Amino acid sequence: MNKFIFVSGGVCSSLGKGVAASSMAALLESRGLNVRMVKCDPYINVNAGTMSPYTHGEVYVTDDGAETDLDLGNYARFTSVPLSRANSITTGQVYESVIRKEREGRYLGRCVQVIPHITDEIKARIQAVIDGAPDNDIVIVEIGGTVGDIECIPFLEAARQLIMESGRTNAISVHLTLIPIVAEGELKTKPTQHSVKAMQEMGIQPDVLICRAPVLLDEATRRKIALFTNIDNDAVFTCRDIDDTIYEIPQMFYEQKLDQVVLKKLGIEARHAELAQWHSVMERFKSRKGTVKIGVVGKYMDLHDAYKSVYEAFFHAGLECGVEVELVKIDSSRLEEEQPDQVMAAAAASSAASSAASAADGNEGINGILVPGGFGPRGIAGMVNAAAWARKNKIPFLGISLGMHVMTIDWARNVLGWETADSTEFNPDTKYPVVSLIAEQTDVKNYSGTIRLGKGVSVAEPDTLLLKAYGEKTITERHRHRFEFSNMYRKEMKDSGLVLSGFSADGSLVDCIEWPRSGEFGHPWGVGAMFHPEFKSRPTAAAPLFRDFIAAAKSNKGL
Ligand code: GLN
Repeated sequence: MNKFIFVSGGVCSSLGKGVAASSMAALLESRGLNVRMVKCDPYINVNAGTMSPYTHGEVYVTDDGAETDLDLGNYARFTSVPLSRANSITTGQVYESVIRKEREGRYLGRCVQVIPHITDEIKARIQAVIDGAPDNDIVIVEIGGTVGDIECIPFLEAARQLIMESGRTNAISVHLTLIPIVAEGELKTKPTQHSVKAMQEMGIQPDVLICRAPVLLDEATRRKIALFTNIDNDAVFTCRDIDDTIYEIPQMFYEQKLDQVVLKKLGIEARHAELAQWHSVMERFKSRKGTVKIGVVGKYMDLHDAYKSVYEAFFHAGLECGVEVELVKIDSSRLEEEQPDQVMAAAAASSAASSAASAADGNEGINGILVPGGFGPRGIAGMVNAAAWARKNKIPFLGISLGMHVMTIDWARNVLGWETADSTEFNPDTKYPVVSLIAEQTDVKNYSGTIRLGKGVSVAEPDTLLLKAYGEKTITERHRHRFEFSNMYRKEMKDSGLVLSGFSADGSLVDCIEWPRSGEFGHPWGVGAMFHPEFKSRPTAAAPLFRDFIAAAKSNKGL
């Protein structure tokens, strides 16, 4: 019998429902249970692929090429749950398939309605995840949005039905709310009371409450909340605002016995929790020494979530290299208007780590530059200038997807002297299309779609930074891009010193490039990859390229 945990949120958005659900899943896994996770997104987009990272945050890509919500990235970082297209359900997908079935006449003349047709479709999709995992013990279903939103209603209704059908010992509701401090340090429980009322109006009595609060809730406050919300005293928990890192949340929940209460409610006998990996994350976190400054030169700089997995991967790499990674966000348009030397110096000086305390520990400039993935022409010239600056100044550089394109354009323009070299994404008529669409490259076969999406195998060449990072020739990472390094320039690029360090499994595409480590253009560490290593990075195992990039930045700093 499968057990369900439905995670919903109230009061407001951005309370960290995904992280809370993931931390709970991590604890259940630590007790030897097999867990699956499903995210329900109330938006009408079929998937997150078409949504701007500015407003919605990063598009997380799964092995099977689904473009999903960034919460799936949280699941992947905190747990070992397998994730695929099936684990992300959107209103758009649900309506799309119900309408298709209606057109095919599959509802036999009935009037097609939200209840039962839309809710049945949601339930069938959740059931499909369970059916695909016979070894599964618990499925955690996170319902995006906030209770009270119109969009959430069909998902909450489906949850209500599943709770009713499964029985309360097999399906529980975990509700996350906010306890603000309004005046004079007083914790306010009223919004939480209202939020639980809104859940009750939907027919769902939450079994467990997780309250996001600035401090750990005291016993009296917990009792008060329990009384007003019809929830057991021992089932009100705090998700305290973290001081340091989100990876302390599993331990925070464990100390409050959240997992034990959840398992008791589900009638599952609690096995011993093996938390060694989370302890080691926190130990490594606390024993980091010194700071490296990484300039991130991208387009979506204002919203942290836009490069969520990238920033997390840096944190993981810092844990592995024993150093704090300070990210200095640099708007690439500044590198078009001002001298790169000045922009970089100003960025380094503006960083928090430039305080007197850290000034003693080495080179105070930028210790590494990252150009992350992206789409569209805006800011590209600035990114190319950033790559040129890092190359000439021997600053470690990592280019991801678009970042590798930028590295290629810099090499073509500034080393080969092809001033107008470009990607056909930005200039379709360029005389030197050093990056172009797969379809524009005549000698490439076997790529049916126009976008490489999801899991792909790359093969590393001998004696490369790429091979050193992964420790083996065969690399499996995830892609999400249309444009490729142009094969027709392979020879000129190589002859001028650029290292073509990784190829697609059939050899037809250049997947990774590197700046040479010796000779006229000798550089300590400059790597570009068409895949996105950040998607598979975990606090317990940093993405190899991020790890080695941070190690190189550490050397640059003199640590
Ligand atoms: N815009 C580029 C492409 O489509 C790069 C995409 C990316 O950075 N993921 O190929």
